[in-house]
Amino acid sequence: MAEGIRKEFTMNTVLINELAEVAKDSALTCGFLVKSKESLNSLQVVTYAPFTLFPTPVPKALFFQAMEVQTHYNTLVDKISQDADFLQEALAGTIAVDDFTARLFKIHQQVLKNGILQSIVLGLNRSDYMWEQNDDGHTSLKQIEINTFSASSGSLASRMSDIHRHILKVAGQLEKSQRIIDNNPAVGLAKTLAKAWELYGSKQAVVMFLVEKKDSNILDQRVVENELWKGNIVVIRKDFEDVAESGKLDEDKRLFVDHQEVAVVYFRNGYMPQNYKSEKAWEARLMMECSLAVKCPNISTHLAGTKKVQQVLAKTGVLERFFPNQPQIVEQVRATFAGLYTLDMGAEGDKTVAMALATPDRFVLKPQREGGGNNIYGQDICEVLGKVKNSPERMAYILMDKIQPVPTQNYLLRRGKPLKLSHCLSELGFFGAYIRRGKDMVMNDCVGYLMKTKSSEHSDGGIIAGVAVLDSPLLF
Ligand code: ADP
Ligand code: MG
Repeated sequence: MAEGIRKEFTMNTVLINELAEVAKDSALTCGFLVKSKESLNSLQVVTYAPFTLFPTPVPKALFFQAMEVQTHYNTLVDKISQDADFLQEALAGTIAVDDFTARLFKIHQQVLKNGILQSIVLGLNRSDYMWEQNDDGHTSLKQIEINTFSASSGSLASRMSDIHRHILKVAGQLEKSQRIIDNNPAVGLAKTLAKAWELYGSKQAVVMFLVEKKDSNILDQRVVENELWKGNIVVIRKDFEDVAESGKLDEDKRLFVDHQEVAVVYFRNGYMPQNYKSEKAWEARLMMECSLAVKCPNISTHLAGTKKVQQVLAKTGVLERFFPNQPQIVEQVRATFAGLYTLDMGAEGDKTVAMALATPDRFVLKPQREGGGNNIYGQDICEVLGKVKNSPERMAYILMDKIQPVPTQNYLLRRGKPLKLSHCLSELGFFGAYIRRGKDMVMNDCVGYLMKTKSSEHSDGGIIAGVAVLDSPLLF
């Protein structure tokens, strides 16, 4: 692999160990950090965020393809969020059997019933991809999913490129170090949050990060927070319980938490059922959604990011609904889709079941969950689908072609883990940021990228789930 790690490195353990030490110190000096899980309660104990020793080669064309389609994905998500009929139809089967999605959908309906008060819509998302190579060497980009809720690790990604450039220089590869593109999603995310705050139009109002209090990834959020403070915007951090206790709406539906008016609610928690520890948490979510505060994301944009919606988008003619008379955009977006199949009741769903049971290794079975570790692979597909194949419960899932990337070799650096050469699979995500006011797109940008890599023995799981590590694309 000419573009991968040079042989002399993989053969030379002394050199690799030296480089690993340099890399870890570089991470510590530049604030590429996570809090130690074991000390979340008390001490300020940090360690470097997990990362690859070397950046991973990525074909230039794929990198720019994904970057360029991002603003269209922003538009698409935003349009879906405004299309209540589409959401209703797409999610009908899912909400019949999946309680979590059903609860979110109920909030969405309540918001529609009340009438949408806030015309400012803020979206911060991340579209993730893998890429495959066919027999004649042609590579193609495939979207894994788009995260419209709490797309994280933008701040860590901002530091990653500097660390990898440094390592390549120390390893005597100056030319290669210049092939890592500048990246600063944290600043782009903060700028968009700041713009939404400004448009809200109340100087004394704050930006509220809706968080989980003890989060080992808090520093990733802090960097975005600090950017806002630099612009003299007050940021508060609250969890669902805080909002349930001290949150209220005034007669104009302005949201106050702890007597502070909230201009923007930035959700960094609330995408998993277990994030809602009580009914009060659900009530707090509903109150925020019904308020005048700008929500990132609002409930309908949250729903637009479900895996079921992703599957429906892949059906013939559906993209055209959102991009009428724009065949080039339709083509550009569709080119990134992997095969996606319905499990709704009926002949088409039956066909999907038969196909999955016959060749489970070709697919991934996905429930409507986020955060890594929920998807089902291989023989487990037969087991899970075997149980639900004739009942409506199967509609809680979608089926997707398993993307088969070419493995690379790298060293994964994670505190307490031995350094060894691993076969790795990589994913590249692009951060989208947009603001719409009424009918006008005020901002629509791609604000950076995030690369993550995991050992190929794991089929699932992200950085926070402790499986994947951060990485950088080395363009060739
Ligand atoms: P989550 O919302 O839980 O993060 P994802 O759909 O992003 O769920 O999947 C989690 C991980 O599983 C991905 O980061 C990727 O490593 C792997 N994965 C998901 N879909 C596919 C697929 N179609 N082919 C191969 N791997 C996949
Ligand atoms: Mg996800």
